[in-house]
Amino acid sequence: MIAEAFDAIVIGAGEAGAVAASRAVEAGHRVAMIYREPYGSTCVNTGCVPSKFLIHRARVAHVVRTAGRFHVKTSGPQVDVAGIIDEKNAMIDAHRDEAMTGARAAADLLTLIDGEAAFVGSHEVEVAGRRLRAERIFIATGMRPTLPPIEGLDAVPALTNETAMELREVPEHLVVVGGGYIACELGQAFKRFGSDVTIVQSGQHLCPREEPDVSTLLERAFAREGIEVHVAHRAARVEPSDAGVRLFARSKDGHHLVVEGSHLLVATGRTPNTEGLNLPRAGLDVRADGAIPVNDYMETNVPGIWAIGDVNGEQPFTRVCQEEAKVAYANGFEGRRHRIDRSALGHAIFTDPEIASVGLTEQEARAQGRDVAVGLVTFDQIEKAEIMGETTGLIKYVVERESRTLLGAHVIGPDAANLIYDASIVIGQRGRLDDIAKTVGIFPTLQEGMEGTARGLLRRLAPDEAKRPLATTPIHADEAERRDLETMHQSFQCPACAADLEVSERLGEVDASETGEPEVADASNREEPLTSSHFQCPACAADLDVKEGLEVPARTS
Ligand SMILES: Cc1cc2nc3c(=O)[nH]c(=O)nc-3n(C[C@H](O)[C@H](O)[C@H](O)COP(=O)(O)OP(=O)(O)OC[C@H]3O[C@@H](n4cnc5c(N)ncnc54)[C@H](O)[C@@H]3O)c2cc1C
Repeated sequence: MIAEAFDAIVIGAGEAGAVAASRAVEAGHRVAMIYREPYGSTCVNTGCVPSKFLIHRARVAHVVRTAGRFHVKTSGPQVDVAGIIDEKNAMIDAHRDEAMTGARAAADLLTLIDGEAAFVGSHEVEVAGRRLRAERIFIATGMRPTLPPIEGLDAVPALTNETAMELREVPEHLVVVGGGYIACELGQAFKRFGSDVTIVQSGQHLCPREEPDVSTLLERAFAREGIEVHVAHRAARVEPSDAGVRLFARSKDGHHLVVEGSHLLVATGRTPNTEGLNLPRAGLDVRADGAIPVNDYMETNVPGIWAIGDVNGEQPFTRVCQEEAKVAYANGFEGRRHRIDRSALGHAIFTDPEIASVGLTEQEARAQGRDVAVGLVTFDQIEKAEIMGETTGLIKYVVERESRTLLGAHVIGPDAANLIYDASIVIGQRGRLDDIAKTVGIFPTLQEGMEGTARGLLRRLAPDEAKRPLATTPIHADEAERRDLETMHQSFQCPACAADLEVSERLGEVDASETGEPEVADASNREEPLTSSHFQCPACAADLDVKEGLEVPARTS
């Protein structure tokens, strides 16, 4: 089979693949992009967008259900899940169609091929009966739900994120296996739609990669909401039951747990989509978990092949995938040597309370051997949170003690994903705690909590700094103002044309107030002693001579 030649092959049309392909096409390169139905990313089809859609509707139901605590009486929510799913699907279909239309519009440079890609050489790929060849290949095949080795799992109808968000009825009792962000987000959403929810998690905490304090607060919030959480229990077996499904789990110390529910949601992690790619034919390394290892340039071990997005197992979040694609594209096509900087790439978990995190956790920073200081404030100290009645939460900053460089920020509480953004800016700029501590926000906002936490920590680390008034002009502006005050202005009339003139002694500037247009008479005057300055009248061009203390200049010619 003769190989069709392209400038680049992109495998996967998700968040990472689409960005790499569109950048290459915009630059005039011929690209083959291989995709699988449904077209587009996990984010749009079965990930971020549908889950955040359901989470939002679930929150509306929750607000209605709990409105009584704000002295607003309601008769309780009647949730039409089928209606919500239809609306969600219509929105996703529109997004997908838009993406597909955009891709087809670039058909002169972009060849879309529907099928399963597999390598047949280091720079050759086969798909749908075609062989393609390119010097540059971007692997962006994403991940799929992991199905753990639970006995009997294939004998019960197990939901994943790909199917749970299509349910047209509220499950009576949803049993969730797993305690990461997908388990928590979807578990809480269904609780708010009206399901009983039980979460069985093998780790010691929900969302165990977050700060331990953050996970603990989430567990307390879930308990208050009536979500049953069993941590430190590994699911071992499932079987069908009269109610629907029965799950058997065990703790390390031998405690047995049996949970029965109407539906089972498995959310125990995600596996990179690499097994069908025939990576050994390309000479590509692959990790035991299926991920393709990359360096900071997004390069694999094979020159000319980059692995971007979830498939490399680094930071599986939409905006990170897009950044990885940009780095790989620039390195592959523009001859750059960009390294990805992950220090300011944050993420969020859209539970209620919401979780957001950027940079290092306290433990990670200490593990790097840094001398770390930590500031922590709970949301009950934030007036806006009190007003909203949402005081469950905390803010935590991790800084390097001596330099006060901000290393990490972690928030659980209302609107955490938005609140964390300032910290992302500061960390990205290698900035300090002071940047947040000394910026005055608006009252009353949740953001004041971020500012207040930073200031509290600054008070401990540098009390004198924290005492200074905050809204004063920065040093360089102070300096400029001082100079301005020292500048002597002389006003007089030009003896030749009678225009009203003003001479600034320090800068040697002449202002023709008659015309209202300030002009610099002669830049060289700036350095001249002002005892005797020569310049031209900006109104009549007469040569003038100003002597110090003289009100009226003399005409020199
Ligand atoms: C339930 C859920 C909620 C999420 N919520 C968020 C969130 O709120 N915020 C956030 O930042 N991230 C979130 N994510 C993660 C986010 O969706 C992913 O990080 C992102 O979509 C990954 O993009 P990608 O391009 O790497 O892969 P994908 O978007 O998965 O795209 C990979 C594409 O490659 C295709 N493919 C795979 N193998 C082949 C092959 N052999 N040949 C051809 N095509 C192939 C796949 O079908 C897929 O279309 C969520 C994920 C899930 C599952």
